[in-house]
Formats: sequence, C-alpha cells, structure tokens
Amino acid sequence: MSAQDQCIFCKIIDGEIPSKKVYEDDRVLVFHDINPQAKVHLLIIPKKHIPTLMDVTEEDMTYISDIHRVAQKLGNEMAELDKGFRLLNNCGENGGQEVFHLHYHLMGGEKLPVKVKK
Ligand code: 5GP
Ligand code: ZN
Repeated sequence: MSAQDQCIFCKIIDGEIPSKKVYEDDRVLVFHDINPQAKVHLLIIPKKHIPTLMDVTEEDMTYISDIHRVAQKLGNEMAELDKGFRLLNNCGENGGQEVFHLHYHLMGGEKLPVKVKK
C-alpha cells in the first residue's frame, strides 16, 4: 500500500473520511481542522498527494499560488476574517508537520497570539 493510499487527507479528498468542507475546486480543497487552535481554523490542501513543501516540483508550484488565491478569496468572503488571518505551513519533522500531505493552516476570527505552533 502506498503512502498516498494511507493518507488521511487523500481520503478526505476522496470522501472516504468525512470533513466539514468550506470550499472546493478542481485543484484545492478547504475544510475545518478537526482540532481547532483558533475560532476559525481551516486547512487548505492541494488535490494532489504532495508530502511536504520540500516535495513541490517546479511543475506543481502553481498549487502554492492556488492555495494563496483561495486564502485571499476566503479572506474577502468570510466575515470572521475581515480583520486578517494567519496562513501557516509546518514543513517536515522539525517544523511540527504531523500529516504528510501538503497543507496550509488558515487561522483567524480572533487576535492570534504572536507565537503559535498552528
Ligand atoms: P500539521 O501538524 O501536520 O501541520 O497539522 C495537521 C492538522 O491536521 C492538525 O491541525 C490536525 O488537527 C488536523 N487533522 C488531522 N487529522 C484530521 C482529520 O481526520 N480531519 C481533519 N479535519 N483534520 C485533521
Ligand atoms: Zn495525500
């Protein structure tokens, strides 16, 4: 069984594991984090299994702009985010990454502490 077959976020993309979806297009999925660390805590993921930011190829680099574009769209459309938000990627073991499918945390809805892991 490949890493992709066992990946929680790939299962969320395929609908095998339920999630509270906020936004979806052909490239990106956004859903609520199961263990929120802020009033609003969303996860933005590419619909392709890429383990970490360090695994993004030149060809796949457009996923990074797609993710930022969706963050900006949600920043415009979600009233809770009108005063700003934090967009965060934990990369690799030392970065505190626990799920090895590339994802960005989008947190807001309140004034966030300066230091926060996620
Ligand atoms: P990381 O530490 O890898 O940057 O963050 C992984 C995040 O995924 C954590 O904030 C964790 O709460 C979230 N998470 C892990 N498993 C699930 C799940 O099955 N569903 C959802 N919605 N979030 C999950
Ligand atoms: Zn995956």
